[in-house]
Parts: sequence; structure tokens; C-alpha cells
Amino acid sequence: MDIKIIGAGLGGLAVSCLLAHKGHDVTILEKNSTPGGKINEISAQGFRFDTGPSLLTMPFILEKLFEYCDAEISDFLDIQPIDPICRYFYPNGIQFDCYQDTCLNTAQIQEFAPDDVQAYKKFITYTEQLYERTKDAFLYNPLYGLSDLGNLNFTDFLKINAFQTVSDRIDKQFKSTELQQFFKRFTTYNGSSPYQAPATLNVIPYVELSLGGYYLNGGMYSLIKALTTLAENKGVHIQYDAEITKINTTDNKIAGVTDIDGNFHPADIVVSNSDASDTYLHLANKEDISLLKRKRVANVEPSCSGFVLMLGIDKVYNALTHHNIFFSKDYKREFKQIFEEKIMPKDPTIYIANTSHTNPQDAPEGGSNLFVLVNAPYLNNNIDWDNEEKRYKKLIIRKLQEHGLTDLSDHIEYSNTITPKDFYQKYRSNKGSIYGTSSNSKLAAFMRPKNKSRSIKGLYLVGGSTHPGGGIPLVTLSAFHAETLINRYE
Ligand SMILES: Cc1cc2nc3c(=O)[nH]c(=O)nc-3n(C[C@H](O)[C@H](O)[C@H](O)COP(=O)(O)OP(=O)(O)OC[C@H]3O[C@@H](n4cnc5c(N)ncnc54)[C@H](O)[C@@H]3O)c2cc1C
Repeated sequence: MDIKIIGAGLGGLAVSCLLAHKGHDVTILEKNSTPGGKINEISAQGFRFDTGPSLLTMPFILEKLFEYCDAEISDFLDIQPIDPICRYFYPNGIQFDCYQDTCLNTAQIQEFAPDDVQAYKKFITYTEQLYERTKDAFLYNPLYGLSDLGNLNFTDFLKINAFQTVSDRIDKQFKSTELQQFFKRFTTYNGSSPYQAPATLNVIPYVELSLGGYYLNGGMYSLIKALTTLAENKGVHIQYDAEITKINTTDNKIAGVTDIDGNFHPADIVVSNSDASDTYLHLANKEDISLLKRKRVANVEPSCSGFVLMLGIDKVYNALTHHNIFFSKDYKREFKQIFEEKIMPKDPTIYIANTSHTNPQDAPEGGSNLFVLVNAPYLNNNIDWDNEEKRYKKLIIRKLQEHGLTDLSDHIEYSNTITPKDFYQKYRSNKGSIYGTSSNSKLAAFMRPKNKSRSIKGLYLVGGSTHPGGGIPLVTLSAFHAETLINRYE
């Protein structure tokens, strides 16, 4: 079959490999001049930065992708565990190095929260149970047809705490504000708020703390280089600078797509890796999508966005490891500002990926490449990014200096920023969201756009805005689901 894929993000590249391996004739049409979408990199003045993901979890899903395509992942990628997975700095001076080894963690917890050592162990077991109860129903399941609903076990469903928030469940478990803040942080991995999202998302700490945190040696962008090579080896044709503006149909069935220059690209099947809201609300013909569906898609809440500051500095701060988090003083207030008031947090939690700690070649000798990320509201009328960018950059540098990165501003040799507006303009993500759709509602897992359209025959969807959600492992699963559904229905 002739398959056209809109977008060479992770989802588009992954599904192209799966489909080309099955013998289909696959072309990717990408609006930008490079592949990867939000997984991108910048090199300047001797510094290299990944501009998107910095942490890989569940690497076995990528392994499955290469295995499915009869390729050896180690020929393409050097996956390296990072330990400690992350260093946490609290406003009261406590520092916590989080390892995959529970004993190393409990030894530290014994020092700063002795009353919570048992609670920590119990919670890790609880997160594992959540993973076991949810993985077949919500992750490894296309959740599309009636046959897929068979994987939903009603008894299990009652035990996944879908009716309590992440925060309420954690507060019940821990006395220590440090551990409360630590566990609540994981909800941001899919761009949601721990004060709104269902406690089921407490499955995320299991994925990192028990299954491990990984880095791709040479940079996270090596994933995109690997998938592009694999796709091209399978015969996939990738056309860059080809923005698709329309999905063409005949009698509600795919006919092809049209690019911005008016060229028509015929297809039997179209897989869209553009954001699901853009696919349904702007690329598809209005007549092909019912008013109800259009309303439903428009109402799906995007995940939060992010404000990124890349700093190339002529110094190594010994306090920093590969992944670092500086927590804010009032977490609840911070999330209220991001998710309810939709303004930039006054006192943000600041994440720093310092990949030069692992890959010294990412910075000139004696220097560091600091990728700084702060959660930000998705695009809204409260923030004019043309004015906010400079102000917020200054605020972050000041905060980092207060957190102990002394005289940081004197050591900056290179700096660059990425705002929510850039995420929207570069990748067309819904309101600049960085993880696709949010999980702030109890029914988010069911409301998220599926990997096959029920409105247009032959239209499939992949990527973070579709089932099962955002982040490298889940987006890769969306590609598997789309391929399964194509096999099932075409
Ligand atoms: C700052 C940041 C930090 C992150 N950190 C992590 C992390 O540590 N770990 C993790 O697992 N995940 C992380 N993520 C999330 C992860 O990067 C995303 O979930 C994932 O990369 C999204 O892939 P996608 O397939 O949805 O495609 P996208 O990256 O959204 O790509 C879509 C592609 O489609 C193209 N496109 C869109 N519309 C059109 C059109 N009309 N015509 C042609 N082409 C089009 C775009 O240009 C783009 O190339 C992070 C993301 C960001 C931005």
C-alpha cells in the first residue's frame, strides 16, 4: 500500500520503520528541514544541547521496535544507565541523590525523613502494583475496538485509584514534605498537575525508580539519527520542507494529502504525526469530521509547555550531576500558577540536564552545557512571550545563583531560549504543549485521540497527542498501535 506520513517526529519515524518493514511503500512529509520534531539538538561555540528530551525510560520499548524491524539496536544506539538518576536540591538545604537501588535511597531517607523509610518501601511496591494493573489495559493496548476492551479488568480498575488525585494519595502516604514533593514531581512527565491528575499516575515513579533512567551516549538526538537511518534502510523516503495543509478524501476515504505548495501526494493510507487537534481541526475537511467530534477534540486539554534556557558556561559546578532538580518552596502554589492561573511560576522548580557530566565533548574543556527547563502553561492570553522571554531568563539565572550556582551570570559564554510560542511555531504542537495531551481529568486515558480515525477511513494517528500519551516510550507505543490497527482494518 502507498502510505504517506505527515511529520518526521518520533511517532512518524517509528511507524515508518514498522510499516516499511512490512513491505509498504512509505513516504514521510515533514514541514521542517530536519527530522525529529521536539527531539532536536543545537550546537554552537563548542557546546552541544539536546533541545527536547534528556531522560530515556523503558528502553525495552525501543529495543522492541528495532527487534521488530530485524535490526540490532546496539548497532545504532549506545543506551547507558544514569546513576544517580537525579540529584534533588530542596530549599531547606537537603540534598537527595535518587538511585535505582532502593537501599541507597532509604539510607538517605533515614537521615532526612526517618519516619518515612517504611512508607517509601511500601509506596514503591504500590507503584509496581499500579504498573502491573494498568500496563496491559492502557499502555500495550490500542484501546480502539470492542476486542481491546477485553484487556480492561474491572476489578483492577477499582484498585488503580482513579478517583483520588496524585497529591492526595502521596500526602496520605508520607509525612515528609521532601518525599511528598519528590513523588509529586513525576506527574509532570506527561505534562500534568499532581493536584489534578488521578493517582493512577503514581505509576510513573515505578517506571523511573524501578526500571531505571537512561541516556543515549552522544546525545538524545542519536535516537532520531538511528531511526532515520533505519527508516531509510527500509526504503522510507523522507521529504523535508513539505508542510501538509490538507488531508484529501473521496467519500470519507483517504485519497492523499496536499502540501503548502499545492502538490497533491496520493495515498491509500495517511498516518498523521502532526498534533491530533491540528489533524482533525485544520488538516481534515470540515465535512469529514462531525461537529461533535470537532468539539470533543477542541476540548482535549493540552499538556503543559516548557520554558527552556540553554547555557554554555566556562565552568564546571561540582554540585551538579547529569540530571538535577532545584525544588520550589511552595509546590502547590507553583502548580496553581501554571495550570489554573496560567502564568509563569514566580518561584519555579528548575530542572538542569548537564550532559557534559557524562559526555565531556558536549562542552569545551573546563566548561558545561546546562539545559535548563521550567514547566510553563500552554499558550494563553496571559503571557506575551515576546516580552516574557527576557524577564524569565533573568529570573531563572538569579534563582540558580541563589540555589548555589555562584556567579553563574559571569560564566555564560553562550545562551539561547525556547519558549512555548517556539514549540507551537516549530512543531505545530497544540498551544505549544510539550507532552501532547494532559492527564488532568479522570477520564483522560479514554478521551485521548485514538490511533485510528473513526471519521475518515484510512487515517491513522501517532505521537504524544494520541493514545497512549507523551514521552519517548509512549510515543513509540503509539506507532506500534497504529501499525496493529492498520493490519487489523486494512
Ligand atoms: C523540552 C522537552 C523535554 C522533554 N523531556 C522528555 C524526556 O526527558 N523524556 C521523554 O521521554 N520525553 C520528553 N519529552 C517529550 C517528547 O519529546 C515527546 O513526547 C516526543 O518527542 C513527541 O513525539 P511526536 O511523535 O509526538 O512528535 P513531535 O515531536 O511533535 O513531531 C511532530 C512532527 O510533525 C511535523 N509536523 C507537524 N505538522 C506538520 C504538517 N502539517 N506537515 C508536515 N509536518 C508536520 C513537525 O514539524 C514535527 O517534526 C520532552 C519534550 C520537550 C519539548
